[in-house]
Formats: sequence, C-alpha cells, structure tokens
Amino acid sequence: MSFDVDLFVIGGGSGGVRAARVAAATGAKVALAEEFRMGGTCVIRGCVPKKLMVYASSYREIFHDASDYGWEVSAGGFDWHKFRNRLHGELDRLEGIYRSLLSNSDVTIHDARATLKDPHTVRLSTGGEITAKHILIATGGHPVKPDLENADLGITSNEIFLLEDLPKSILIIGGGYIACEFACILNGLGVEVTQFYRGAQILRGFDDEARGHIADHMVRNGVKLHVGTNLLEMRKQDDGIWVKGTDGSERIYGEVMFATGRDPNTSDLGLENTDVKIGRRGQIEVDKFSQTAQPSIYAIGDVTNRVNLTPVAIREGMAFVETVFNGTPTPVDHDLIPSAVFTQPEYGTIGLTEEEARDQEPVDIYCTSFKPMQRAFIGRDERVLMKLIVSQETDKVLGCHIVADHAGEMIQLAGVAIKMGATKAQFDQVCAVHPTMAEELVTMKTPMRSA
Ligand code: NDP
Repeated sequence: MSFDVDLFVIGGGSGGVRAARVAAATGAKVALAEEFRMGGTCVIRGCVPKKLMVYASSYREIFHDASDYGWEVSAGGFDWHKFRNRLHGELDRLEGIYRSLLSNSDVTIHDARATLKDPHTVRLSTGGEITAKHILIATGGHPVKPDLENADLGITSNEIFLLEDLPKSILIIGGGYIACEFACILNGLGVEVTQFYRGAQILRGFDDEARGHIADHMVRNGVKLHVGTNLLEMRKQDDGIWVKGTDGSERIYGEVMFATGRDPNTSDLGLENTDVKIGRRGQIEVDKFSQTAQPSIYAIGDVTNRVNLTPVAIREGMAFVETVFNGTPTPVDHDLIPSAVFTQPEYGTIGLTEEEARDQEPVDIYCTSFKPMQRAFIGRDERVLMKLIVSQETDKVLGCHIVADHAGEMIQLAGVAIKMGATKAQFDQVCAVHPTMAEELVTMKTPMRSA
C-alpha cells in the first residue's frame, strides 16, 4: 500500500517539531499540522515567556542590592507594556525560527487542525485528507480549571502573557510548579500576590526540606501564602473579582489565576476511529517505544502524561525516529531526569527526595543551609540549601537538591555525575571551586543525619 507521506506529525511543539525534522533527515517524506502557533506550549505560552518574565521580575531585587553595594540607582517603575511588546516580538522571532527549521528540513507544514479518520489517514480542518504510513501525536496539554461556578472569570497560564495591564492584586490557586513560579514572578513585578494551596505545603512530590525552604523565602519576599486553603466562591464585582476562601476570608482581587494542573489534549482528535487507548487522565497510553495500541500511531510529550517536561518530549521524539526510521528500537530513559522550578529562590533537583530514599533503603543526608557571600555582604539573610542523599550501602548519590540563585544551572552539571552513578567519595575527590555556592556540594564532610 502506498501513502502520501511516511510520517504525519500532529502538533508543532518542541517534541513534534524535533521528531519531524529528524525523521525528514533520514530521507522520510514528512508533514506536520499545527492548529495554533508553531513552537507549542514551551515557546509560545510556557517555559520561554515564563523564563523571560522571571528575568524581568528579578531586577527589583538587583536594583535594591546594587544600591547596598554602593551604586547610585533609581529603579523607577516596571513598564509592563514595554516588556510585553518586546516579549511578543521575541516569541514571533522564535516561531519564525521553528517554521524555517521545518521548511529547511523539507517538512510540509499545514496550518490546520488535524484529526484521525482511520489509523493511516489524517483529515485537515482546511480541507483534504493525507494518508501516512506512521502518525505521531504530539498535541501536548492544556491548563484545567476546577469545576466551580464562575471559574471562567479566572485566567490560566495561557492568558497571563497576554494581559493588557498587570493587575494591582492577584489570587493564584494551586501549589504546583506553575502556581509557585507565577506567584514569585508577579510578586517581583510589584503585583500584590495571594496564593491559596489546598494542601499542607506547596510543591507536593518534591523534597520536603526544599519545599519548606522555598515556601519560607516566598513568604519573606512578600507572597501571601495560605496553605490548607482553597477557593470556595467567586463572582464579578465592578472593581475586580470577589472571592470567598475555605478559611472564611472574603476579598476582591484584580485577577484570579488558576494553576490547578494540566490535562492531555486528546479530545476531538478522532481517536475513536483507531485502536489508540486513553488512560484515566485522558492521556494516550504508549509502550516504552512511545507506540500506541494502534501499531501505525505513536505519541510523545505531554499528551502521554509521562514526565511533562520539554526536554523529555524532545528525547521521546528522537527515540521514536531511531526506533521507526533508523531501525534501532530505542526505549526512552525516564530515570534520573534533572529539572528546575523557577521560583525565587530557584530550585534544582535530580533523583530521589529524602522521603522517597528512606522508604527505599538506609541513607545518609548531607545538607547545609547558609547565607551566600553576595547577600551576606549586604546584610540580607536569605539562605541557600544544598542537599545530597547518599546510599549507606553503595555510597551512591541518590538525589541532589539545590535551592539557590542559578540552581537550574548547577543541577544540570551535578546531574551528569549523578546519572553516571557517582558516589559521595567521588564527589569529594573533586576540588572545590572557590568562592562559589556550588563548592558546598564537594565539601560536606559529615552527614547531617541518617534516615
Ligand atoms: P501541577 O499538577 O504541578 O499542580 C497543580 C496544583 O493545583 C497542585 O498544587 C494541586 O493540588 C492543585 N489543584 C489541582 N486541582 C485543584 C482544585 N480542584 N482545587 C484547588 N487546587 C487544585 O500542575 P501545574 O499546572 O503547576 O504544572 C503542570 C506541569 O507542567 C508540571 O507537572 C510540570 O510537568 C510542567 N511544568 C514544568 C515547569 C518547569 O519545569 N519549571 C514549569 C511549569 C510547568 P494537589 O497538590 O493537592 O494535588
């Protein structure tokens, strides 16, 4: 049977674009459909604009510190419109790069929504059908709001980059990555931030000590964090959104933002015309090669709800091409993935939390919390946290947690050693780089405790 293309990719985010380009480089005939903007969540309404907002929001503190270091500075106010215009210019530029990367790789782009007619046929919203030997679904996910009356009054991370004006006050609901990152960003930009989290401590699933450290610093920096609290009622009032909390509090906020999780984009894709199986959270079920129950159809990235991070989707896309177009079955390695939460302070992490590790085996915890030189000099009392979790039996470093400026940069490098299986003794063989914060990772001599 002959097909119009060897591969049809649905979704132009980081994973889909990479898979399309790498497949085309093997000589395959490839087409890709994207219904919105090329680049997907990461580039258009996620990691990239978020990180630029992190930079924008960090200058308030930099101006403050500069003055204590002897500079004469007057910060003035933050001009959201000026920043927003530049931000959108940058996103347009990046989208253009994604498009030209695809066309330079001879991938045919369809600016259309694609749905599945059958296991080998894609139907385009712009008209027409294309048959494909293989189909790759890389449609990502979307933010979800709780099932609550008037929830449509609230925004999500999708809208935050598009606001005409920054509100004077905002209520953020949730305690995950997105809620905590935007609480810090907006606080830094001068918005009065309140955060409701229904559980006992933010960033569930991460190391408890790191969670506590970040929460303390967020509160100290001005975020009004209410744990054990959720939103009960909301309605529009002339001057904002009136909210009642489960703690009995009532207040009007300029905006309410829901950061209450993301669901995979699997609705209205025509999956019912195939044997593709959908899981409990709406995710596409795949095997270790990203293949669905329908042999011609694969899926990668957030739509599979495995590890929802851009670099993971990219690796899944490349492993798919190795498996299907280079004849080398390549499973995706989801073990020991370093990642960063761009709160202020930033959190870099890899491997087990202390809680996970002590459930698994006896461990030694090497941990230090200290005032970094740059801040101590000007009398600021923020502390950084460095923590290594070490197996008592093998001396292997099972986990590393860093809460500090540039923790994301540090964990990338510590991650190389930990992924290679480094022991604590091998960490200690490395000479310290002085004076840095990261030198503590190789100079912690005695465990703080055993667990
Ligand atoms: P998360 O799943 O991490 O967090 C959702 C939060 O919302 C949790 O605190 C959850 O509480 C809470 N919540 C869920 N439902 C409700 C409800 N009905 N009422 C009140 N609270 C609720 O999702 P995010 O949206 O923060 O992030 C999605 C994913 O995006 C992350 O898992 C991550 O993979 C990725 N991401 C990665 C980033 C990075 O690498 N820096 C940055 C941003 C996103 P509870 O804990 O009680 O369930």
